Amino acid sequence: MAERSTFVGVNSITFNQLFKTEANCLEYLSSLKWEGGYCCKRCKNDKYCQGKKPFNRRCTKCRYEESPTAGTMFDKVKFSLLKAFHIAFKISTKKKGMSSLELSNEFELRQKTCWEFKWKIQQAMASSLQQPLQGTVHVDEFMIGGAEEQKRGRSKGAKKLIVVALEILDSGVGRAYAEIIENASAKELGSFLNKYVSKEAKVISDEWRGYTPLKADFEKLEQITSNDGKNFKDIHIHIMNIKGWLRGIHHHCSKERMQGYLNEYHFRYNRRQAMGVIFDLLIKKMVKNEPVRLLSTN
Ligand SMILES: [Zn+2]
Repeated sequence: MAERSTFVGVNSITFNQLFKTEANCLEYLSSLKWEGGYCCKRCKNDKYCQGKKPFNRRCTKCRYEESPTAGTMFDKVKFSLLKAFHIAFKISTKKKGMSSLELSNEFELRQKTCWEFKWKIQQAMASSLQQPLQGTVHVDEFMIGGAEEQKRGRSKGAKKLIVVALEILDSGVGRAYAEIIENASAKELGSFLNKYVSKEAKVISDEWRGYTPLKADFEKLEQITSNDGKNFKDIHIHIMNIKGWLRGIHHHCSKERMQGYLNEYHFRYNRRQAMGVIFDLLIKKMVKNEPVRLLSTN
């Protein structure tokens, strides 16, 4: 098994030096795609030879040829792989990401094309749901869009209700997740917590009745008075930051789209201490192209 050389860092000069041509990107994808060894998709043979195109692999038994992009999110992209890599680098490493308009200007692509590709990236940025929040976890909801924030409303029209969970550590704040929900019922809140928060966690919410029945699943769940937000300072700062970012980049968008933005925000946020490997991680997710669950529907 060949050792893969991964890109580490957030420096765009280094990045530009390493990714100058289509071949550089194909090589990166190829070593990532087959890092666990080659296996023919058609006949499961593990021997291959060079295909017709560089970095393609052709099965020695059934002659099936596979490209590094086949079956990945880079398949059938309407522009060069080089641009796709540079867009992925910008979106993953820039603190606030990049809007489709900014991408369109920088990469000389139509805005709609950028918007579509960014959507793919946001899907790759959805949580794998493999690392639920642990320890002390604060949870709260907020409204965005439409008339200004009324608490405990319903997602309706432009107005969307978002629930957030944030790890509170001794040293500050940890990871966080957010999801659009239909309403602040126990069913919707419970479905969110079940996906993103460990059952062992000490979940802390305010006194909203929607949380009370969730003590059945989350034994350590505690409801405390909000005290005008004083008891939920960290999560309120987090919410303010999400709101600020969302306002800066879009006006109206669908629920699915909004969930994409929440995924993007938290993908970066949860790796703020490990930005050096964030590009490689994103590419890995885009290569694996695993089905992602975007919205809580059950
Ligand atoms: Zn084969």
